[in-house]
This record gives sequence, C-alpha cells and structure tokens, in this order.
Amino acid sequence: MGKQVCIIGSGNWGSAIAKLAGLNAASNPLFEKNVNMWVYEELVEGRKLTEIINEDHENVKYLPGVKLPENVIAVPELTDAAKDADLFIFVIPHQFIARTVATMKGHVKEGAAAISLIKGINITDSGLGLISDEIRTALGIDVSVLMGANIANEVARDQFCESTVGGFGENAKTFKALFQRPTFRVSISEDPKTVELCGALKNIVACGAGFCDGLGLGDNTKAAIIRLGLMEMMDFCKVFLSEGEVKNQTFMESCGVADLITTCYGGRNRKVSEAFAKTGKSLDELEKEMLNGQKLQGPETARELQGVLTNKKISPERFPLFTSVFKCCYEGAPVPDFLKALENHPAHG
Ligand code: NAD
Ligand code: 13P
Repeated sequence: MGKQVCIIGSGNWGSAIAKLAGLNAASNPLFEKNVNMWVYEELVEGRKLTEIINEDHENVKYLPGVKLPENVIAVPELTDAAKDADLFIFVIPHQFIARTVATMKGHVKEGAAAISLIKGINITDSGLGLISDEIRTALGIDVSVLMGANIANEVARDQFCESTVGGFGENAKTFKALFQRPTFRVSISEDPKTVELCGALKNIVACGAGFCDGLGLGDNTKAAIIRLGLMEMMDFCKVFLSEGEVKNQTFMESCGVADLITTCYGGRNRKVSEAFAKTGKSLDELEKEMLNGQKLQGPETARELQGVLTNKKISPERFPLFTSVFKCCYEGAPVPDFLKALENHPAHG
C-alpha cells in the first residue's frame, strides 16, 4: 500500500501544488493514487467549489485556467479528508492555521508526517513561534517545510523553478519525491527553521518593494530594498534561532535570495503594496478588490514580527525595514517615510 496524501488547503498555491503532487502520486507506487484536498467550501457562481473541482478538475476561483489531475479529490470536511492520511501538505494562509489544527486534533493517524508550505510566523510569550512548531505541537507529528521562489501561477504552468525542502531523513526524501517534477527541482536543507523563516520574512520585504514601485522609484532602489531586507532576514534568524543553528548557505538556496527576488518583482504582496502606496486605500480594501479571495501574508507578518520583538525585548530599531513596513501598513505612517528609514539604516555605518 502506498502512502495516502492529504492536502490541507486549496488556494492559489494549494491548487498548484495539488497538480504536482497529484501527477507524482499517480505515477509513483510510493504513494496512493488518489490525493485528498481539503477545500474550504464556498459557492462559485451558484456551484459548490468542491463539485466544480471534482467534476471539471479546475479550481476556477483560485487557479483559473489550469487543469488539475483527476486523482486530486476535493473534500469539504476537514476531518474526512484527514482521517486516513500518512502525509499532510499544509498550505493555507497562516491566519487560519490555529483553527485548522484544532479541528484536526484527534483525527490524525499515528505515524503520519507533515510538510508546511505556509509562509508566516506566530507571536508567543517568549517571542517567536514557527508555524511548523504549531502543527507539530498540536498534532504530535513530524513536520518538514517547503519554501522557495514559487509563484503559484508560474509553477502551475510548468515554468522551470527550484524549491527547498527543510527537513531530515526519510520524511524529507519522501516529500521531495512527492513534489519534484522535471520543471520543479527540489533540494533538501537540514536547516529547516531558517528555511521556514526565510519564507515568512521575505513577504515583509516584498511590501517594501511594492512601496518602491508605488512611489515610482527604479531598480537601484529596489535592489537596495532587497539587499537590506536580506540583511534583516539574516540578522533576525540569528537572533531568534540559536546562532550556530543558522547556516549562511541556506540564504543562497531557492528559499532564500531566489524567493526574495521573485516576490519583490512578481508577488501579491508587492502588487497590493504598490497600490497601497499609490491610492491610499486600506490594505483590507485592496486585498478584496485585487485578490479575489486570496490572502496577503506580508503586512500581517510585519505586525506579528513587532509583537515578537516586544516579547523578546529587542528594539524595533534593529530592524528598520521590517519596522517601517509595519508603521506604514498599520500606524498611518506615510509611505515615503519608508525610504527615510532606509536612508538611516545601520548597515551604512
Ligand atoms: P490563498 O492566498 O489563495 O488563500 C485563499 C485560500 O484561503 C482559499 O483556499 C480559501 O478557501 C482559504 N480560506 C479562506 N477562509 C478560510 C478559513 N477560514 N479557513 C481555512 N481556509 C480559508 O492561499 P495560497 O496562495 O494557497 O497560500 C497558502 C500559503 O502558501 C501562504 O502562506 C502563502 O504565503 C504560501 N505561498 C503562496 C504562494 C503563491 O504564489 N500563491 C507561493 C508560495 C507560498
Ligand atoms: P506572494 O504571496 O507575495 O504572492 O508570494 C508568493 C510566494 O511566496 C512566491 O514564492
């Protein structure tokens, strides 16, 4: 018997990864052919989204124009989708993870393993919480991560890219086998916490890249934002993970500099932040107007990061770019102040 796969989530990235995992499950005896995909049920033009996916094999709301393999089965009940699974792929906006794992508790097979594709962080009393730790603690299972320069719409159209599994041993290898395709090349890193933090933090930098575009500034400015953002990402990882745990090489993987670049040019956080700078409308309003149900992670992560710094008693001034994105998104600071924060960045001595 092959391993039964269950995808928790069916948004833009959830649907793209369902295509890859579905194709591999159909052809690799390591896996059961049918892959369950939990779909947060909603009506799309009067039809249930699960019915549309199971009959038309397309997630017309979150990944229109891409056919999903017929062995990807949409399931509306979370506990039904989860109950026989050996391998879980968590891929929901990080805002919803707490409720989701609470519902799954007690419905997960012993010996199951998970991988988190979720880019985000939590605030804990002592400082930083990783989403992978939240899943591990709630469900008592091993959790790897997959992060990389992986804009879902491009992955779903088989455009070549790379990705990074953070994890160890057989589970990391099994998940690599589940995702790797001719155009989706996966490396394994044994530095999973840094891999995960890279995925979360680059979304804040992407908001800065969007501000840059919204202010009509050019590529030199964006390159500086990417560089300073990368430095803050590296510093944050070294402060919050024990220094020796963080490998500099990890920032050179797809989950590091490559994801930072793609998100700062092509991602949703960049796009909506550009509109935020141009229009002055609220982020909530723009998310609704521009993303058709998809969710931004960057502003929320910037807010959570401030809570993490406070709880750990670290000055926000140590992270001027992250902090300025937070102030523009949530405290009404004018977007041009973001550039002022960079002009005075400690990286310039
Ligand atoms: P998305 O932004 O498309 O979010 C929409 C999804 O959220 C839909 O499936 C919707 O049904 C679901 N949802 C809405 N309310 C919900 C609720 N109360 N409970 C549970 N689900 C609910 O999602 P996505 O693009 O698949 O992103 C998931 C994660 O993957 C995020 O952390 C994101 O940063 C990461 N990611 C996204 C991409 C990308 O290009 N889209 C690429 C890499 C990583
Ligand atoms: P956005 O959420 O900004 O679109 O980023 C997608 C992503 O994580 C690409 O790797």
